[in-house]
Amino acid sequence: MLKKVVFQTKSTLETIRVGKDIGRRLLPGAVVALVGDLGAGKTQFIKGLAAGVGIRNPTYISSPSFTLIHEYPGKIPFYHVDLFRLEKVEEAESLGLEDYFLGRGVMAIEWADRIPSLLPEEMLLVSMSYIDKDRRSIEIIGKGRRYEDLVNQVQSLELGVRRKKPKVNCEPAPPNE
Ligand code: ADP
Ligand code: MG
Repeated sequence: MLKKVVFQTKSTLETIRVGKDIGRRLLPGAVVALVGDLGAGKTQFIKGLAAGVGIRNPTYISSPSFTLIHEYPGKIPFYHVDLFRLEKVEEAESLGLEDYFLGRGVMAIEWADRIPSLLPEEMLLVSMSYIDKDRRSIEIIGKGRRYEDLVNQVQSLELGVRRKKPKVNCEPAPPNE
């Protein structure tokens, strides 16, 4: 069963904080697939993810120009894939993403919906959308056991079940009607 949690953030910083909280919980080999329109905040979220994974200076992370994949070295390496400029799936095939999935790094893939056939079965799916100038909705879905567990952890954090005061100060989004 798919596990899901939805956040609504009120600023760029809040989005980065949600990303960081999730990044801290990712294990080597983790894959995070991001979808959402231009300006939805995917790259900002990824800055948070990288910070949580332990990458130094994650603020330098930006949307790559002509390189589809950027590597940030660290104890756990971080790979940022941005498929915005991808013209056809074949271009991504040559990246050898499967090899990365088996590796010890964490990979975040922006515009993951452009390569559905290349995505692993188990991953964290992050779907972002624009609400207004400063607000974004972040839907996080776990596919596969360890990602479902992760969503459970984040969910309980959001509900205040965690004993430590949550660092992320975001309101849960209203349930779907
Ligand atoms: P994407 O990678 O999805 O195209 P970016 O992360 O590059 O989007 O850009 C999002 C833009 O929206 C940034 O300029 C960011 O500062 C702004 N923004 C405003 N509010 C938010 C928010 N709540 N979360 C994320 N970004 C936000
Ligand atoms: Mg981007």
